[in-house]
Amino acid sequence: MDLSSAAIGHSKFRLSGACRFMTRAAISVRGCALGLYKSWPYIPAFTWLILITILSFASSFNGNIPFDQRTGQPFVDAALVMPFWGSVIEPFSAVSHIILGASNYQITIISSACWLFAGSAAVAFVAQWRRPRQSYHVRILRILTFAWGSVILLAWYLVFVLLVPLPSSSLVLKDPAAIVADLHSHTVASHDAIISEQQSLAIHRDRGYGVVAWAEHYPAPWQSVISAADRAKDLSPKVIPGLEISISIDDRNYHLLLLRFGPDVPIETWVPKLIDDRALRDFTAMIHAAHGVVVAVNFKLNEKDIDRLVADGVDAFEIANLGHPWMSPALHTAMVKAQNSHGVGLIAASDWHGWSGFFRTWTVLTPANPNRNPADEIVDALWGHDAKRIVPVVSQVFYTPSIPQSIFSPFAEASRYGSQLQPLQLASWWVWTLSLIWLAGRIRHVRLSPARIFFAAISSVLGVGIMFRGLELVMMSYHGVPYAFPLKVGLVGCAFGLSALFGAWWMVKNRARAILVAPDHTPA
Ligand SMILES: [Zn+2]
Repeated sequence: MDLSSAAIGHSKFRLSGACRFMTRAAISVRGCALGLYKSWPYIPAFTWLILITILSFASSFNGNIPFDQRTGQPFVDAALVMPFWGSVIEPFSAVSHIILGASNYQITIISSACWLFAGSAAVAFVAQWRRPRQSYHVRILRILTFAWGSVILLAWYLVFVLLVPLPSSSLVLKDPAAIVADLHSHTVASHDAIISEQQSLAIHRDRGYGVVAWAEHYPAPWQSVISAADRAKDLSPKVIPGLEISISIDDRNYHLLLLRFGPDVPIETWVPKLIDDRALRDFTAMIHAAHGVVVAVNFKLNEKDIDRLVADGVDAFEIANLGHPWMSPALHTAMVKAQNSHGVGLIAASDWHGWSGFFRTWTVLTPANPNRNPADEIVDALWGHDAKRIVPVVSQVFYTPSIPQSIFSPFAEASRYGSQLQPLQLASWWVWTLSLIWLAGRIRHVRLSPARIFFAAISSVLGVGIMFRGLELVMMSYHGVPYAFPLKVGLVGCAFGLSALFGAWWMVKNRARAILVAPDHTPA
C-alpha cells in the first residue's frame, strides 16, 4: 500500500473531486425538481397549447366550416372568417367561442359551471392537503371559497361577453351575388332588447349580413317600426320592418313574425281575434295580399304544430334560432318534410336582442335578380314559397344533446374549438401564452404572486368593460327609448361591474397582502 503523503494527497483530491461532483449533481437534480414543482401551473397551459396545435393541424386548418341546418352537411359555398382583431385577442374570447358556439349553449353554460366548480375544488383540495397544519374547517372553507370564486369569475366573464360585443366570425360566400340575411332581430323598440337601431346595423354589417329584419315584439307601434326601417333605407344592411306576435290556439302558444306587410293592415284589430285556425287563415291571407310574409318562430313549437301552421298559411319556419337553440329530431324532420311538400322556407335566425356580438345563424338566398334590393328578393322568395333558393346556414348544427353529451359538452366543445383554429388564431395563442409565462416569471422574480395579480387584472378588465356598457345603456335610456328595459340592464350591469372591481380590489388588498412585499422578503 502506498502511504506516501503524495499518494494520500492525490487520493484525497480525487475523493473531494467526486464529492463535489456528487454534491453538484444532487443540487442540480434538486433544482430541476424544485423548478418543475414551481412551474407545475404551466403544465396545463402547455398541454392546452400542444392539444390545440395538434387538433388544428389534424384538421389541416380547414377552420370553422358552416353547415346546412336541414341536412347537417357542410355548406361548401361559404367560409366563416374571423376578423384580424378577433384573432389577436383570440385567447381572451376563446371561452365565449367554446360555450356560445356549442350546439346548445344553454346546456354547455350549466355543464361548464359544474365542471369548473368541481375542478377548482379539486385543485384547492390538493393545495390545502399540502398544508396539514390548518384545521379541517378552515380547509373546507378555503376549498369552497376558491371553487365559488372560480364560478363567479366565469359569471363575470359571461356577463362581460353578453354586454360587450366581442369580434366574431362572418359568413363569407363564394358567390358575391348571394344574399345573407338575419330575418329575426330586435332593437330597443322591443320591450326586452338592449340594442339601438344604429348599433344593430353596425354589428350586422360587421358580421356580413346584407339584410336584417327588425321584428319588434307586439305591441310595438307598427308605424314607428316602418319609420325606423325607412330611416335606414339608404344604409347597409337593408332593413325589413316586422312584428313578432304571440297568439294562442287550442292552448298552443305560437310566436309569429310578420314581415313587410305595409302600413294599411289593421294589426291592433286582428291580433286579439287570432284564437282559432279560421281566424289565423284569414289573417295570413290578408298579410299575403299586402305582399307580406308570416314566419313561425321555433320557440315552443313541436312537430304536431307544423302541418297545422302550413294549412293556416305560414310561409316559413325557423329551423335554427340562436335565442332558442332547442331543436328535437321530430320537429326538425317535420319542418324538412313541410319544406319538401309545400315549399315553405326554412330559415336560420339570430333572434338577437343585443346580447353579445356572437352570431352563428345565417339565411342565404340565391337571388333571382341580383340587381334588385336584397330585402325585396328574400321577402319575395319566402312569399312565393321558393324554398329551393333558401338555405339555413349555421356555424354548428343545432340539436338537443343526450344526457352524456350534455355532461361532457365543455370537453367536446373545447375539442371542436381547437380543430377550428386558423393559423393566425393559433399563433395568437402561442404568443400570448409564452408572453404571459415570461411575465409571470418576472413577477415571481420580484416576489409577487402571478396568479393573484393575473386574476385581479382580469377582474378589473371585466369590471371596467361591464361598467362602461352599463353606463352606455343608462345614457341611451336618458336620451329616450320606448321601454325601461335598457335602463334596468344598465343599472344591473353597473352593479355587476362594481362587484368585479370590488373583487379585484379585495384580491389585491387582502388576499395578496402577505404577498405584495418588498423584493428582499420571502412571500407568505
Ligand atoms: Zn324574437
